[in-house]
Amino acid sequence: MREPGYVQVAGEGGSRGRSGRLAGAALVGGLCLAAGVAFAGGVGDGSPARGGIGSVQTLALAAPVEDVVITEARAPGRPLVIIDPGHGGADPGAKGVSGNVRESDITLQLARELRQALAERGRVRVGLTRDGDLTLTLDDRSGIARRLGADLFLSIHADSAANPLARGATVYSLSDVASDPDAARFAAALNGAEGIGTGAGGSAQALLADLAVRDQMDASADFAVRVLNKAAGRVALRPEPHRFAAFRVLRCAEAPAVLFEAGYLSNVEDEAMLLSKEARARIVGALAQAIEVELASRAAARSR
Ligand SMILES: [Zn+2]
Repeated sequence: MREPGYVQVAGEGGSRGRSGRLAGAALVGGLCLAAGVAFAGGVGDGSPARGGIGSVQTLALAAPVEDVVITEARAPGRPLVIIDPGHGGADPGAKGVSGNVRESDITLQLARELRQALAERGRVRVGLTRDGDLTLTLDDRSGIARRLGADLFLSIHADSAANPLARGATVYSLSDVASDPDAARFAAALNGAEGIGTGAGGSAQALLADLAVRDQMDASADFAVRVLNKAAGRVALRPEPHRFAAFRVLRCAEAPAVLFEAGYLSNVEDEAMLLSKEARARIVGALAQAIEVELASRAAARSR
């Protein structure tokens, strides 16, 4: 389900773009465009867009995006979860305390094991934003979710902190207001040069997009709680493990979306835990169950 005002990437929208209105500097609604990407069309111009979509974006997708493979469920018509292994390629992410471990490898390992678990159970369709050591921008990642019409988006990371005793998993959900200064700093660092992805304030388009983003934020918070409920007792959690902030990659996925920090690579025990297949299986089991229950409850709510 998408609200008016949302941006669609080419591939879903294709040639529906009103290229006569092409304006590189246009800001519409939940702006999730890479810097310098041309943008066409917009809501509120009196012409109802086909498919109820208010605007169409033409976006040159990075090469890895073309290679996304969807693992099908046992039955047709099942919802799609996109799993995003954080970092990769030129950006290895955090370094493990042992010096031999890269966050980008841990996130890919977890994502592949989660895909495997979901595929074996066969209840949902699943795809990864990257299935190798690839460099992807945040907008590449969220663009995959948008383009494929993902029903759920899960970005996987592993933390690092100056305090070597800090440990445990954290679940971040999307919010305009951060839960705490640390979460705000973390989101800002992750967003980096791509920025926060907010739209033009005050306009009708921005208002519509705000309403849709509010729904997305509520749904993301629900999913975060579900992840934590499934993780409790199986996965070591940080104190106050549900945090929230304005993550561009979550907002731009245009689906209920959370960012899961599996633990601290800067902590000796957590690093060892993330390198253990058994320990990862507990994490993967919790995530798989949370994803399945979340998607099943959404499907049930829709059919009522
Ligand atoms: Zn990370």
